[in-house]
Amino acid sequence: MGSITLISGCMFSGKTTALIREAGAAEAAGRRVVVFKHGVDRRYAGGEVVTHNGARVAARAVKVSADVLATAGSAEVVAIDEGHFFDDELPAVCAALRERGVDVIVTALDRMWKGQHFPTIQRLAEMADRHERVLAVCARCGRPATVSQRIRPFDRPGDFVGGAESYEPRCEACFVPGVDEPEVE
Ligand SMILES: [Zn+2]
Repeated sequence: MGSITLISGCMFSGKTTALIREAGAAEAAGRRVVVFKHGVDRRYAGGEVVTHNGARVAARAVKVSADVLATAGSAEVVAIDEGHFFDDELPAVCAALRERGVDVIVTALDRMWKGQHFPTIQRLAEMADRHERVLAVCARCGRPATVSQRIRPFDRPGDFVGGAESYEPRCEACFVPGVDEPEVE
């Protein structure tokens, strides 16, 4: 029996940094590690997972959760970045890998830009053997941040993927559900 570790938080909370650290430690210990990312996440290099600070690790881009199970091969550790991009089969895929003896690490946002939770990630949190919540620093007041604040209107409907130009971390008190556009002076 393997395990499921969920690392969750808002944007800029160091989730991917934690994933790269854990994947690197497992590799250094001689374990076979495969890192997956969702094909929708094209903010950075195609075949890599990259942190906001520029740390990177080789990753396979897949379109659906089932592809993780189908292509994990003989991996002993499977790391999945940005789990919230994946379809709702992700918890079942993680459970199947755990059943095979694989240690699964998933990073994910807890909540969407309107503040609502991702149902898939909530299910993963219930199943996980270990759930590490990571925090960012609120861009407004400096307190621990748990939510990603949308600070720019959407270019296209449904185009939620963005970086520091579109989102900033906020605490619960400073979070405004939806788009909080900066005041123009
Ligand atoms: Zn705040």
